[in-house]
Amino acid sequence: MSLITTYCSHCFTRNRLPSDKLDSNANCGRCRAALFGVTPLVGRTAQFDILIGSDIPVVVDFWASWCGPCLQFSPVFQQVAKELEPRIRFVKVDTEQETAIASRYAIRSIPTLMVFKRGEILAQRSGSLPPSLLREWLLSLTNRDE
Ligand SMILES: [Zn+2]
Repeated sequence: MSLITTYCSHCFTRNRLPSDKLDSNANCGRCRAALFGVTPLVGRTAQFDILIGSDIPVVVDFWASWCGPCLQFSPVFQQVAKELEPRIRFVKVDTEQETAIASRYAIRSIPTLMVFKRGEILAQRSGSLPPSLLREWLLSLTNRDE
């Protein structure tokens, strides 16, 4: 058994917990709220490094409100988040609000999905995809890593 570090969905504090407790309803050591959310977190510049520094892979959906395919993809992302958190963590970044993050990763087409682990990019892809393919893609990344 090892210890893993990941962020709290409410106060963004880094928490450390045993890797075999990931499926439990863990609470944050600081704010006591549920550590894992069932809806994608809104990623902001101030906490972005904490989010992507997680030991658990984090998938980020880069989107914008004017982008039709992004809006169509949004419920897909939400649905798969509900299924896969906390195995994988889900974050959305509004590229118009958070321009610093968007330019740091040179986001040119949206939606773009990027998977991070401990601050590094594990994988990325552009364009919308159906829930089955999103699930399959994300699980293939976590399995490869184990
Ligand atoms: Zn907290």
